[in-house]
Amino acid sequence: MSQKKDGAGIDRCAFCGLTQNEVGLLINGESASICNECVDRAYEVLNEWEEDQKKNKKLAPINMEELMKPEEIKKFLDQYVIGQDAAKRYMSVAVYNHYKRLIFAQQTGQEIEIDKSNIIMVGPTGTGKTLMARTIARLLKVPFTIVDATVLTEAGYVGEDVEGILSRLLQVADYNIPLAERGIIFIDEIDKIARKADTPSITRDVSGEGVQQALLKILEGAVVNVPPEGGRKHPEQKFAKIDTTNILFICGGAFDGIEQKIARRLNTRAVGYGQANRTQLDRNNMLQYVMPQDLKSFGLIPELVGRLPVLTYLEPLGKDALRSILTEPKNAIIKQYKALFAIDGIDLSFDDEVLDYIVDKAVEYKLGARGLRSICEAVIMDTMYTLPSQGDCKEFHVTLPYAREKIEKVNFAQLRNAG
Ligand code: ADP
Repeated sequence: MSQKKDGAGIDRCAFCGLTQNEVGLLINGESASICNECVDRAYEVLNEWEEDQKKNKKLAPINMEELMKPEEIKKFLDQYVIGQDAAKRYMSVAVYNHYKRLIFAQQTGQEIEIDKSNIIMVGPTGTGKTLMARTIARLLKVPFTIVDATVLTEAGYVGEDVEGILSRLLQVADYNIPLAERGIIFIDEIDKIARKADTPSITRDVSGEGVQQALLKILEGAVVNVPPEGGRKHPEQKFAKIDTTNILFICGGAFDGIEQKIARRLNTRAVGYGQANRTQLDRNNMLQYVMPQDLKSFGLIPELVGRLPVLTYLEPLGKDALRSILTEPKNAIIKQYKALFAIDGIDLSFDDEVLDYIVDKAVEYKLGARGLRSICEAVIMDTMYTLPSQGDCKEFHVTLPYAREKIEKVNFAQLRNAG
């Protein structure tokens, strides 16, 4: 017996009961019909169901045996990041402890609660802070997002609310809340939200101290209502509740001028304890002596500094480091260019002097590691433009005169701004 037709022999939607004349389209099945509106509604229900499934998906517990030990983590970092040994060691231990903390939290009935090992890295721009955080995230296979502290403002002011950081992580985790709750957030340029004056402000400082206050809550661990930001697919999505207890925060900043604060502190102490310490100081790299109190005198509020217990530094990159960066990391710039040319069947090679020359230019124009890429680009741009159409070319060797000729045309002031 057909259920499509009612008693009067009219086709009706089996869900809403409307007839062909009352809807746009009636799709007829073997024994029932459905109208376009009900299909739409069913689609929405299905989407919501899928979202719910995703949100509550259980994650596999973390297993101690699968954990990489700090020395292994550092070896992994070594493949991508040149130098920066101190920072790598601190990071490796912090990440290892973070994972142990997650395992600990999985076991019920624990009396001790292990504190978070949020990290703060101090170091000049372009020395590998972001690269380090990115590489760690790659290793851990957890969602990772980078936010720029300069765009953050206190809730209600123009700019991005601090909670927005978590929406980004949620998006990266494809809306899987438990997965996001294990993620890593890299907050770049944390020094830019330092308090402007040395004393607590009387007037509101919505982009500095206010943001630091707002960050405190999520850094320390709280259940935060995160606004939906999933585009049109989630128009009426409710606030997602994200527990930040197990999210690892890594902050980075150049803290320009902090060396003077470190020196001042060390000098005062050296005077107090006699002159011995002062003579042993390595004046060329004062960052290695950075202590939490220096971050406070720079303008981070004590509570925030307290929630970033792992403090480490990155060294300025010298010529040798820059030279290594060109060729050694797993995805070194030169290796990338070689791979690009190989796709066209061309074997690309450089004279060693060319690589030294590229490094010299980066140092001369203070472009740092970030500038290496732009300089390389300038050297082989023309080649990348012409060679692919020359079918018979099988190899290309870059010599010093060739590199010189290309570089001399470049406006380095522009490169610096681009970097
Ligand atoms: P920061 O976050 O300290 O400002 P980045 O990590 O963004 O600097 O570095 C910019 C780029 O310079 C990186 O993408 C990488 O190519 C290169 N780089 C910087 N430091 C290093 C390093 N120590 N080892 C390898 N590459 C580096």
